[in-house]
Amino acid sequence: MAKHQFQTEVAQLLHLIIHSLYSNKEIFLRELASNASDALDKLKYLTLTDEAMKSLKFDPRIDITFDGKDSKTLSVSDTGIGMNEEDLVNHLGTIARSGTKSFLGQLTGDAKKDSNLIGRFGVGFYSSFMAADKIEVLTRKAGEKDAWLWTSDGKGDFEISKAERPGHGTTVTLFLNEEGKEFASQWRITSLIKKYSNHIAFPIFLTYDKKEYDEEGKEKKSENVTEQVNSASALWKRPKSELKDEDYNEFYKTISHDGEDPLFYIHTRAEGAMEYTTLFFVPRRAPFDLYNVDYKPGVKLYVKRVFITDDDKDLMPTYLRFLRGVIDSEDLPLNVSREILQQNKVLTNIRGASVKKVLGELQRIALEDKEKYTAFITEFNRPLKEGLYSDYANRESLLELVRFKSTRADGFTSLEEYKQRMLGDQKAIYFITGDNEAKLRNSPLLEAYAKKDIEVLIMDDEIDEIVIPSIDKYKDVELKGVNRSDAGQDLGKDKNEKEKDRDIDDVIKRIKKALGDRVKDVKVSVRLAESPSCIVTDESDPTFKMAAMLKAMGQKEIPEIKPILEINPDHEIVAKLKTLKDEAFTEDISFLLLEQALLVEGVELKDPAAFVRRLNKIMVKAV
Ligand code: ADP
Repeated sequence: MAKHQFQTEVAQLLHLIIHSLYSNKEIFLRELASNASDALDKLKYLTLTDEAMKSLKFDPRIDITFDGKDSKTLSVSDTGIGMNEEDLVNHLGTIARSGTKSFLGQLTGDAKKDSNLIGRFGVGFYSSFMAADKIEVLTRKAGEKDAWLWTSDGKGDFEISKAERPGHGTTVTLFLNEEGKEFASQWRITSLIKKYSNHIAFPIFLTYDKKEYDEEGKEKKSENVTEQVNSASALWKRPKSELKDEDYNEFYKTISHDGEDPLFYIHTRAEGAMEYTTLFFVPRRAPFDLYNVDYKPGVKLYVKRVFITDDDKDLMPTYLRFLRGVIDSEDLPLNVSREILQQNKVLTNIRGASVKKVLGELQRIALEDKEKYTAFITEFNRPLKEGLYSDYANRESLLELVRFKSTRADGFTSLEEYKQRMLGDQKAIYFITGDNEAKLRNSPLLEAYAKKDIEVLIMDDEIDEIVIPSIDKYKDVELKGVNRSDAGQDLGKDKNEKEKDRDIDDVIKRIKKALGDRVKDVKVSVRLAESPSCIVTDESDPTFKMAAMLKAMGQKEIPEIKPILEINPDHEIVAKLKTLKDEAFTEDISFLLLEQALLVEGVELKDPAAFVRRLNKIMVKAV
């Protein structure tokens, strides 16, 4: 017998499960049934593809038994792939799932919020410790002789010892605790299986004492029976007309570990040149690992109802990684190697058609059900934006689907809606990028746009900075960042006239001289109304934000970006500069005009002490 410590994360998770999920204890049965089903899937695949396994006697089934009288136990048993000693240590002692640490870090200590997060993380096997104070796992791996018994009270360690088991598979036995005792009941188990695991593709049997009573309520007969409790059909293969929303929702829960109903589903059957079925779900809330590099893909591949893999990130494009569901192909060979799936033409075609289908459905919802679409966008706007640069072929559809905040409309707005609101002679779609919505809304760069009533899209999502500049046009309208030097074409010629003002030319010359190589250029601004100055970046340079992001991503050689300083010729400070003769004072003012504009943009000053010195000098003069 060998004693093992749980990995720290498991110990933490166990603690959390017991303290945050107690109001939803019942999900443990769903998790156990789902593990059993996975184990059967894996073995089924091997018996069809692995020479050594072909002769194996395989009778796929899940059996639930319980003792409601004395010891109060509940067992879930499968004839699946089983585990050897090493598997037990690896799978039931650690959490292999990536992002576990970051997930644990997200937890707040508030039981209600945490239970939502845990729900999305998927607690798996460990959730059984909510209902049991001891768990035994008796298991034997298919093709191996030895069986193993894993035992733990979920308090920090577990034991593994050699054992006997007649066939391959796994039996998980829960020694129910006080709160778990309610689950040792035929009625309770049946209703839970129907609720969560009805559509598991293998039969689930329940063995119990069936009792008959006479008219006076006395037990007349008791017989030990075994009955199938789930429907055991591959739901996605059933005709749509037979299925109700509830069926889809239940199925979603069995494959996603999500406690909530999905936002919507898309069930497609293709016949003809290619035969396949797909069933996709969009979760109500983003999976916890959506932004982890090694997220777990949510789409499973089946071939003629045989499970092939649930770990192929190429089944769907990365930006649609929030989808959950099933692809079942009739045309692939069963023994298709998992490694060569990527190059498989059948799959490439299914994938292409599926992406189009999903995007089309999203567009339909956007038009027909605003509320639902807003719920979708709130969670998944960002992945869609990733698609704008990764999926060139579908860029046009994606441009219709992404949403932005705006100076004009509340909530989210589409490019199409913006286009329709454009002023008669407006030439471009304008946007401002940055990381803080309030700051962006107050940016001096927007003053002249506001005055002219020109709408500007507020792009405060990090990804906007990367994606949007790569999009030149929506339909035939150009997209222009307001912090770009050439984005003033809609802001009126009347102001350009002022550039001919010789006094202002002189002021600009003097500011240029004062600032030297701190700026790329100094110009008269057409976009300012109230503020004296602002900075913009040259069309050919990256923006400050972009440079900061590149730096954060570890890129070393980022060229120094020099801003273009624009000044407002109508502002009092600028007007006064025209007659100011004191060169040293002019220099201070020039620097302050630059530095305040940088600050408003959120750019860190190189020499804040010098800025404060200058400011104080001026304050002394003013007081
Ligand atoms: P998940 O199922 O999300 O991977 P679990 O904690 O529920 O997480 O299970 C961890 C691992 O333990 C599984 O991935 C699987 O490898 C193994 N396992 C659990 N239950 C069984 C079972 N009944 N048969 C075979 N392996 C199992």
